[in-house]
Amino acid sequence: MIEIKDLHKSYQMGSNSLHVLKGLNFSIDEGELVAIMGSSGSGKSTLLNILGMLDEADTGEYTLDGVPIKNLNETKAAKYRNKFLGFVFQSFNLINYKTAMENVALPLYYQRVARKEREEKALKYLQQVGLKEWATHLPSELSGGQKQRVAIARAMAAEPKVLLADEPTGALDSKTSYEVMDLIQKINDQGNTILVVTHEEDIAHMCKRIVHLKDGVIVEDKKVEQVRASQYV
Ligand code: ADP
Ligand code: MG
Repeated sequence: MIEIKDLHKSYQMGSNSLHVLKGLNFSIDEGELVAIMGSSGSGKSTLLNILGMLDEADTGEYTLDGVPIKNLNETKAAKYRNKFLGFVFQSFNLINYKTAMENVALPLYYQRVARKEREEKALKYLQQVGLKEWATHLPSELSGGQKQRVAIARAMAAEPKVLLADEPTGALDSKTSYEVMDLIQKINDQGNTILVVTHEEDIAHMCKRIVHLKDGVIVEDKKVEQVRASQYV
């Protein structure tokens, strides 16, 4: 589903250059649940932004679902992004003046799905994350965990090939974090490919594989032998 080869990325700041990703290689199959783990500044978000086509690597190859991602113009990149990728962020990024259902339905609007179908799908995905009763509520009326579940429903409603989550539990307390990861595990159980960026060991161990990033290199890439369930973390 995802393959990267010798990926490099530097940031230029005036005459200085910061080499952030230093030749990364891995492939991720359909249906995997992978944690990209590493301490702050190790390059996790840089990597995820490249995988999410929000940014481009300087050199190296990136193939997504068989499509080489290289030198795409913004229109084409946006098209692939909508078709292939769902995003979840630490800060939820919900629209404050729209209800939970409207937030979930929004990406479908951009996919030109008709109103009735949008609403049906939005309700279906809200139900999947256990929030159907909250459909008409605004984000300000929801807890952090509920907001993140709405954001996950929104990402899933567009039926992406890959769900990319950058520190999805970063703004949540431990118990709520485990509940959100429990939901991510359930979505993965349905066959969805998911990448979770985290700096927390316990969150990473709720995934099936951990790619450990340190100073821009992969220092470890291992299968998790005993994937933790939320009640045992
Ligand atoms: P992580 O998500 O693991 O905390 P990042 O990928 O955000 O790490 O950042 C890796 C390094 O790159 C850090 O040193 C950060 O300060 C730097 N960095 C990130 N984004 C930019 C940018 N747009 N311009 C310059 N430096 C950046
Ligand atoms: Mg980050």
